[in-house]
Amino acid sequence: MKKLVILGGGESGVGTAVLGKQKGYEVFVSDKGQIAKKYKDVLEHFEILWEEGKHTEAKILDADVVMKSPGIPDTVPLVKQLVEKGIPVISEIEFAAGYTDATIIGITGSNGKTTTTELTNHILKAGGFNVGMAGNIGDSFAKMVSEKNHDFYVLEISSFQLDGIVDFKPHIAVLTNITPDHLDRYDYKLENYTASKFRIAMNQTEEDYLIYDADDPIIEDWLQKHPVKSQLLPFSLTKKVDQGAYLENNQIVITVHKQQFTMPTDIISLDGKHNIKNAMASSTVAQLTRIRKETIRESLSNFQAVPHRMEKVLKIQNVTYINDSKATNVNAAFYALESMSAPTVWIIGGVDKGNDYTPLFPLVHEKVKAIICIGVDNDKIIENFGRVVDIMVETQTMREAVRAAYEFAEKGDNVLLSPACASFDLFDNYEDRGNQFKEAVRNL
Ligand code: ADP
Repeated sequence: MKKLVILGGGESGVGTAVLGKQKGYEVFVSDKGQIAKKYKDVLEHFEILWEEGKHTEAKILDADVVMKSPGIPDTVPLVKQLVEKGIPVISEIEFAAGYTDATIIGITGSNGKTTTTELTNHILKAGGFNVGMAGNIGDSFAKMVSEKNHDFYVLEISSFQLDGIVDFKPHIAVLTNITPDHLDRYDYKLENYTASKFRIAMNQTEEDYLIYDADDPIIEDWLQKHPVKSQLLPFSLTKKVDQGAYLENNQIVITVHKQQFTMPTDIISLDGKHNIKNAMASSTVAQLTRIRKETIRESLSNFQAVPHRMEKVLKIQNVTYINDSKATNVNAAFYALESMSAPTVWIIGGVDKGNDYTPLFPLVHEKVKAIICIGVDNDKIIENFGRVVDIMVETQTMREAVRAAYEFAEKGDNVLLSPACASFDLFDNYEDRGNQFKEAVRNL
């Protein structure tokens, strides 16, 4: 019996454990921290051996193959030892993809992954396909593969998952954008992170597709220097493309295999230019799968915003409160601010990830009337924006921040939570931060 060791007993680890067991492996799950009760129950149910609070090296180094959870860096000594011994260390998507013949649509990028994944899933479902959505969203891909067969999988894929692939190949890959993020895991080198994102296309052939943002200079530059085999379907807001999607007179024009169709941008239920891009990417996928144009249009117009991404919470005294807690980096906050069509009170802050705020200055100057900072790294925010915005307020809790925003907002304004920072200083995660925001707004 082949031995599969899984490092990390979270969603992807436990999903892989169950699938591995089903496929006849001797499975062992090892987590240096604690394994959540719900996952322990699953492991017990399937009679899978596990440990927590330690890594028993002898057992781990005896594996035939190791699945490493995305949260564990390659640099930890145990992983290095495995690699030195020649034991394959792979990611969950690599493992799970080996057990399905479904068509895989893999979506990656620094921003826009979840929205594009949800939107694509929504359109494909409306088109009547038997589709499973997994990856960074909700259930793990491995868990889905172990439970039921789908014809399509729409997967949200992080760079960490891509770092652990060998043969994984999506038939349709989407690369939403590349902007500095997670650089701590990539030796602080943008090129390493970019290379990791492009692994989504590394096993693709001429029969496969890469849909990507042609307005993104990092992507364009990389493609010039490192051509891929896949058929390229770029999307752009600024230039015409022969294949893929572009914008002309507020119409999205999509061309795939010489078939062309158009649709007005104002049918898209989501606000913001970045969502036109996400809609372009998803519609191009849908067009490749030959879903009816009417279905694509309808799906774009009835799609509900994903929570914590430009989510309109309430209108109070004609002030609109928007929760964009998922904007955990500067680029995401950029698009949020760009989409503001009214004067904005901006709630920003949290754990700074080496942010460079300069790209935001013109937008902030134009749109932001007050900044409310909340988090451990307020000083840097004040230092950066103090000269651009007259009103700057420091707060300690979300309730205080929302209160302060309420004081400064006038009829017709927006209050936008788009923090440009990680949430771990004051909150469990970005969902917790967004939920606290929504609660504070509802209590105003
Ligand atoms: P991800 O899953 O990659 O973090 P989301 O779809 O959750 O992306 O969106 C996170 C935030 O990123 C949004 O709130 C928005 O501000 C911004 N964003 C969304 N789509 C894009 C895009 N295509 N390009 C740049 N920024 C985007």
